Amino acid sequence: MSEKTPEIGAEITPGAIHFEDLGLSKELLKGVTDLGFEEPSPIQAQAIPFILAGRDVVGQAQTGTGKTAAFGLPILELINLRSKKVQALVLCPTRELAVQVAEEVTSLATHLRGISVLPVYGGQSLERQIRVLERGVQFVVGTPGRVLDHLERGTLKLDNLQTLVLDEADEMLDMGFRDDIQSVLDKAPEDCRRVCFSATMPKAILALIKSYMKDPEFITVTRKEVTVPNVEQIYYDVRQHRKSDSLCLVLDTQDFNKGIVFCSTKLGVDELTTHLLAHGYQADALHGNLSQGQRDRVMSRFRTGGLDLLVATDVAARGLDIDDVDLVINYDMPFDVESYVHRIGRTGRAGRAGRAVTFVTPREAYKIREISRYTKADIKRAQLPNKREVSDLKTGKLLGEVMATMEDMREARKDSKKLDRYTLLLQSLTDDESGEVDIAAALLKMLIEREKIWPSPEELEAERREQEEMRAWQERSRQDRGGFGGNSRGEGRNWRDRSERGYSAGSERGRDGQGRYGQERDGAESGQRRGGAEGQRGGQKRGQQRDMQRLFFNVGSKARVTPGDFVGAITGESGLPGRVVGEIEIHDRFTFVDVPREYAEEIMRVMNKAQIRGMRVAVDVAKPME
Ligand code: ADP
Ligand code: MG
Repeated sequence: MSEKTPEIGAEITPGAIHFEDLGLSKELLKGVTDLGFEEPSPIQAQAIPFILAGRDVVGQAQTGTGKTAAFGLPILELINLRSKKVQALVLCPTRELAVQVAEEVTSLATHLRGISVLPVYGGQSLERQIRVLERGVQFVVGTPGRVLDHLERGTLKLDNLQTLVLDEADEMLDMGFRDDIQSVLDKAPEDCRRVCFSATMPKAILALIKSYMKDPEFITVTRKEVTVPNVEQIYYDVRQHRKSDSLCLVLDTQDFNKGIVFCSTKLGVDELTTHLLAHGYQADALHGNLSQGQRDRVMSRFRTGGLDLLVATDVAARGLDIDDVDLVINYDMPFDVESYVHRIGRTGRAGRAGRAVTFVTPREAYKIREISRYTKADIKRAQLPNKREVSDLKTGKLLGEVMATMEDMREARKDSKKLDRYTLLLQSLTDDESGEVDIAAALLKMLIEREKIWPSPEELEAERREQEEMRAWQERSRQDRGGFGGNSRGEGRNWRDRSERGYSAGSERGRDGQGRYGQERDGAESGQRRGGAEGQRGGQKRGQQRDMQRLFFNVGSKARVTPGDFVGAITGESGLPGRVVGEIEIHDRFTFVDVPREYAEEIMRVMNKAQIRGMRVAVDVAKPME
């Protein structure tokens, strides 16, 4: 890989390291608790001590493994709150990520007095950012183009910078930010610590590391060999905002006696437990905030069958010794393969049959593939049951109960010869107008309404719309492996599956003639070429597999725009993955950018309101040139 073989970080046994062990202040630990994090993720447990110790750190870990807090916490710990100078700078590939990182850091820093965190990105007014910077900010998170812009204007100064972080470094290079990143690195003080996080470690990143980092500590989230228990495994595609409703549908259709539902945070556990209780399930919460007494009570109810469902965090469920759990639900995805295996191992014990169900939101799609790859388990994708199916099932169950009760009553009558009280009641209700059938139907109606067994027309309509949206989303993501996705935080937009796409390092991107750039196209076959992209580059004509639309932007090289500015602005504004952007041709006063035809309109709509390098731009469909 490189001349220096990365040292693999120490193996982390789940539960061995707590946030309290990492050398963080009380205030930060409180922030962590507020967010509901119960224990550090593997990358956090490994990276935090090194960054705190002042070392340069290179971390390799997939999306969703908690990298933000892995650098955010130690940086916050080291910031001198009495100084209002910029002490930390994080570079992120997109505006969306910059905002997310700034939000998470701000949450972690809730109990630090006098901290100020600012996201800076293209598309937002420069003046506003300058005003905030002038007031004094210690922690800046930004996209490379905009950060460089501020550096060149002198509105951002790095004289007091302690830590510079490249977050999602491969993605940034992928988007053509290499020159910008290098300029920022060149402007950072010699002695500031440098941290680089990346999901993959292609040559271009290793080269950056080699020239800009001092004896860095390499951390890779290690993977142990895992043996998967013999448990039936299925997963459902779910939308983040529909998760709790989806859970009810699943619970209503799964036959089980005891189930454990895993959430990633304590807050999540509490919220979900409340939701389940409100919907008539026998559920209770198990997490680290409970006293030993409370914990024991919950566990004994679960053991004796007084509870059907335990809603738990990984930590709380660790070491639970219960043999007859027959359903495990990964409501939130686990951080890594090991915890997946650990969780599903809670069921199917002592030779009993068990089932594991996992909820997968669009941005987590790559994780489930990763889990099946490493565990070699056959995790089957299943369709979420719909309301109609659930109500049919419940109706059938109700009728079954009615029949069983009739049977019992018939038996009882044989013995006593007398009419039972219920039949006497029924006789008092019959008259000329209503016979037994009418009365029985009325009773069924009451039961079905009371138990809310049949969904209302409005509910069915809402569900139909939801399903249509989901289908459309899946269709788009099949085309793009990414796509517009949802617009709620974290859903869809960040779904970047590096393992299944071609990698194209911005620096080595083919450049021909007068500023023509192109990005490697997404394609099913490109997964194999990752890392060796240079060899194949150039031979492939960009954008030939799909119908592209050429757009005209009214800025060009006179305005010092780079391809990265276009990719950054388009992805940042539209939420589309960078790889959908095709060829970029920069002329003196204008630029042509190829985008897939189906997104052209949306891109024009958002870009006509956006800025590139602080300039408002006009975008239009390019007229064919003579
Ligand atoms: P990455 O940068 O690796 O993609 P993030 O830092 O964005 O991952 O974290 C992914 C999600 O996990 C975020 O919602 C974050 O709040 C949450 N998270 C991070 N650390 C923990 C933790 N120790 N316990 C529970 N949730 C966590
Ligand atoms: Mg991240």
